[in-house]
Amino acid sequence: MLHPPHVLPALTGLSKDDLTALMAEWGQPAFRAGQILDWVWKKQVGSIDEMTNLPTSLREKLAETHRLHALEHSQTQGSGDTTRKFLFKLHDGRYVESVLIPANPALYGERSDRRTLCVSSQVGCAYGCKFCASGLAGFSRNLDPAEIAGQVLAAEQLSGERVDNLVFMGMGEPFANFDKLMAAIEIITAEWGLHLGARHLTISTSGLVPQIRKLADHPQQIRLAISLHGATDEVRERIMPVNKKWNTEKLFEALDYWNAHKKQHLTLEYILIKDVNDELEQARILAGHARRLRAKVNLIPYNTVEGLDWVRPSETRCKAFRDILKNAGVSATLRLEKGHDIDAACGQLRLKQETEEGIIEAPVK
Ligand code: SAH
Ligand code: SF4
Repeated sequence: MLHPPHVLPALTGLSKDDLTALMAEWGQPAFRAGQILDWVWKKQVGSIDEMTNLPTSLREKLAETHRLHALEHSQTQGSGDTTRKFLFKLHDGRYVESVLIPANPALYGERSDRRTLCVSSQVGCAYGCKFCASGLAGFSRNLDPAEIAGQVLAAEQLSGERVDNLVFMGMGEPFANFDKLMAAIEIITAEWGLHLGARHLTISTSGLVPQIRKLADHPQQIRLAISLHGATDEVRERIMPVNKKWNTEKLFEALDYWNAHKKQHLTLEYILIKDVNDELEQARILAGHARRLRAKVNLIPYNTVEGLDWVRPSETRCKAFRDILKNAGVSATLRLEKGHDIDAACGQLRLKQETEEGIIEAPVK
């Protein structure tokens, strides 16, 4: 079946096996697959036409049947050493964002001169956490492997810099798009692809229990961060509807399962929201969970989202919350300065562009 040019499958979504099968189907030698992957991921060319070691006829056939990229760069905010936000247009007119953060805030155990890319996994999000910009406009669709892996390639091409770490903390719930996410991770970690070590990848989830167990069984050493945001069901349920389906008891059981199967320590993310989850009693209960799970805690003072009324607690309260964790022997980080860090830029993406173009309804608040 012929596709209009803008919806042709993208080369960035093909695995080595996919391309090898395609070359066989076209009567091409198998090594052509390797050559094509090399142009896409290592040399990072801007067009199929630049793949000069391929016969012209093959280049023509590739160009007739495939696009090189699935993402069209639409806008960059920020520059140089600062956090940069890239906006990409998708073939169906939707938009997706990625954020490149120059210095890793050392929250994920990496060096500070590394660059971290915050990657989106869906357009919008169906989980509707009450504090989150991504959930505000609801869910549009899953991203496909080319659109997920393509964010990393595009960020490297646009910045001219190598991306060292990935966090799946952009728009969407990565575990609600598990198969496509894992297909993208294969491309991102493969030697023929971006060749990033699985240990440099962190998936953040709002707590989808079956997928936590699935990742625990997965052979790659991918890191896991849990958006907890409440130490008890009562508090968590108020802000995260997902807790009705997977309550803290089921969640912690899955995290025990993770610990039994993985060496990587878990990260518990906890946004601090005034008068919602910042009671010091929550810190005490959280400390107990973190100790038992041998997890690090990442405290994130709430970042204001346009259209939402939540407020960040005072600095004093944030520090008191952290100190309870520390005094209980838990490794806890609290980042009070705004900007220049993952939490200020990432996890609160919202597609203003789509709202402006009338593709999605402006959220009602
Ligand atoms: N859906 C996944 C990944 C995307 S959200 C998840 O929920 O984990 C990435 C992180 O940003 C989550 O911990 C999320 O709770 C957090 N986040 C969302 N809105 C935020 C805000 N306004 N301020 C600070 N962190 C926020
Ligand atoms: Fe979705 Fe995560 Fe935002 Fe919740 S915090 S609405 S799961 S993106």
